[in-house]
Amino acid sequence: MIVFKKEKDLRSWLADQKKNGKQAGFVPTMGALHAGHLSLLRQCRQENAISVCSIFVNPTQFNDPSDYAKYPVTIEADIRMLEAGGCDVLFLPAVEEIYPGGAQLGRHYPLGQLETVLEGRYRPGHFQGVCTVVHRLLEIVQPDQLYLGQKDYQQCMVIATLLELTGMDSQTRVRIAPIIREPDGLAMSSRNTRLSAEERAAAPAIYRALSGIRDGLQPGDLTRLKQEATSLLVQQGFRPDYIEITGAGSLEPVNEWDGQQALVALAAAFIGDVRLIDNILLN
Ligand code: AMP
Repeated sequence: MIVFKKEKDLRSWLADQKKNGKQAGFVPTMGALHAGHLSLLRQCRQENAISVCSIFVNPTQFNDPSDYAKYPVTIEADIRMLEAGGCDVLFLPAVEEIYPGGAQLGRHYPLGQLETVLEGRYRPGHFQGVCTVVHRLLEIVQPDQLYLGQKDYQQCMVIATLLELTGMDSQTRVRIAPIIREPDGLAMSSRNTRLSAEERAAAPAIYRALSGIRDGLQPGDLTRLKQEATSLLVQQGFRPDYIEITGAGSLEPVNEWDGQQALVALAAAFIGDVRLIDNILLN
């Protein structure tokens, strides 16, 4: 695996590869890698001649400064994992390389209601930061395929919108990979390493709450299902930001189901000072 820290070195290496007609797949991450990240890399390798991963903890997408300060960094273990996973290139830029003018938001991306609901509502500015860094990374890597995890359901929709807004969708295709979970159902997440033993034991309740919604789904009123899921989380010591059932393609809340519309259940909740998110496609 080749590690690039500088944009210009990565660009010139990629330009040489692309001259030979090789397709490049790209897996952007914030590091503290786990099996979920590796599943994206595996799919990327199957579908592309070149696999590029990036590790960059993006300051502009953290609405909570203490979340940024405490974000886990395990770069040596990450490099070993990527090497063992057969990654061709790691882009590991410093903050100044991505933000030469200082780490701040530049242009505004018109995301519409996508950034006023769910994560957008509880993490103001978060998706502007995501768009800023992903736009920058895509300009550098110019991949044929971009690999994202369903774990960050709303983020997948935001990035698909970013590609449309910038016209990059003509060059880059988004590929969305399923959520990888621990045996007890907890969605793998870099933030899981910050849970105490007690919090870790309670954490799978977020998946049980979402599974309860899926298992109890029937046409008609959905409010009771949402309330039961919320109660389960609260009983287990979570402080939910939201637990919502929405259209799978719209993220608009659905309170009355016609038995047809494709739905997704999404949750975000704090356990201790760690905020976890998860989701399940319902039908
Ligand atoms: P992150 O490092 O958290 O920014 O995640 C980098 C990419 O990995 C994003 O596209 C995530 O959606 C994806 N990802 C994170 N956790 C998982 C998981 N448990 N299963 C599948 N993909 C994941």
